[in-house]
Amino acid sequence: MTTAELRAVPGVADDLSVWPASTTRLAHGGLAVGGVSLAEIAERFDTPAYVLDEGEVRGRCRRYRDAFPEAHVLYAAKAFLSRAVVRWVDEEGLGLDVCSAGELELAVTAGFPPERMVLHGNAKPPHDIEAALRLGVGRIVIDSPSEIARLAAAVGPGGHQKVMVRVVPGVSAGGHEKIRTGTDDQKFGLSPVDGSAQEAIGRILGQPQLELVGLHCHIGSQIAEVEPYVAAVRRMVGLMARIRDGHRVTLRELDVGGGHGVAYRPGEAALDPTALARGLRTELVAACAAAGLPVPRLAIEPGRAIVGPAGVALYRVLAVKHTGARLFVAVDGGMSDNPRPALYGVRYAPRLIGRASAADSRTATVVGRHCEAGDVLAADVPLPADVRPGDLLAVPVAGAYQLSMASGYNLVGRPPVVSVHEGRARLLVWRETLDDLRSRDVGG
Ligand SMILES: *Cc1c(COP(=O)(O)O)cnc(C)c1O
Repeated sequence: MTTAELRAVPGVADDLSVWPASTTRLAHGGLAVGGVSLAEIAERFDTPAYVLDEGEVRGRCRRYRDAFPEAHVLYAAKAFLSRAVVRWVDEEGLGLDVCSAGELELAVTAGFPPERMVLHGNAKPPHDIEAALRLGVGRIVIDSPSEIARLAAAVGPGGHQKVMVRVVPGVSAGGHEKIRTGTDDQKFGLSPVDGSAQEAIGRILGQPQLELVGLHCHIGSQIAEVEPYVAAVRRMVGLMARIRDGHRVTLRELDVGGGHGVAYRPGEAALDPTALARGLRTELVAACAAAGLPVPRLAIEPGRAIVGPAGVALYRVLAVKHTGARLFVAVDGGMSDNPRPALYGVRYAPRLIGRASAADSRTATVVGRHCEAGDVLAADVPLPADVRPGDLLAVPVAGAYQLSMASGYNLVGRPPVVSVHEGRARLLVWRETLDDLRSRDVGG
């Protein structure tokens, strides 16, 4: 594409508020992200494809570092991890929150310092604990009583490992029931209400090779308000005071997890890191003063808010079908690259790119190509009435929990990931080929 064609076209009344900040309009209905035309990426790398704006990821890391200069900011790897992302996050000075040996080893082999990592997991396989200890992970978050003795034994009598305890603060928040993790009726964490958190803390303190540095909580995901976090901090400081009184230990760290909400469609609310920092700091200082505790070092673990808005999914329209009152637009990806609509009923705002349409908009349902009626990417969204096979659709805010949850369903193969930055596109992860899939299937 020439520089002349890259010129933004003024006066188009459409909303790019949830797109990466680098997004610009091109002639003939095109869009560029990171200085690269999306239609050109679809040409060069084929579809479906995932585009990740490096500048947007780095900019989001910096916003967190600026808002929380005194805290540990850890990127939650499960949102999306690749070796390039590991490098960007490392260069921006963040830590890393991992929840498997796979995430841990990928990051370490990409050069991430293990001491800046935290290992999570409600059920950590022995292999994961072995990898964490072998590689020297900074902190391990204990999530059940049974793992304490197991971890202590794996560390060995001469060894030493910093640990935290995941506590359920009794605060419910989050965009969907399946992503609320702050109350007693779900699988994560130990409750201070029934005493299991205190009991676990007592057991950890009885293991000399485990150093309890602090408490952890994670109340849910896709949370747009500061208040639930403030409430969680209040309860966690209350528990820290009870631990000081009961066990004579003063904990130095408080990790309040992630879950920061982003806008998937124009007009939706997002959590502002600066407002969160102000709210957390104020509550932490006040609650610690009231309890006579020194202020612990804060840690936060944003995942979605770092990579979600930096990603764009590109699909090619394969079929258009009018059934009764509905218009179905079927694309060449779907639930195998993005299970979120089927899992949580989330809503996206797809957009026609690559050609200008003068047609009126009408309500359409964008569906995938998989053999499930529930393979719906976006229900009841406005698209130009003349949408047709061969068109390109782009879905913004596609960077988190899509490819990291991708499956091998229908042996379609997972899409490639392409980074864009300052006018250059680079392949980060190749498209999964039939050879990739077949190489695991040894035939028996
Ligand atoms: C999932 C998770 C996160 C990140 O959640 P986001 O919603 O992506 O910010 C952080 N910490 C823990 C413990 C998690 O389980």
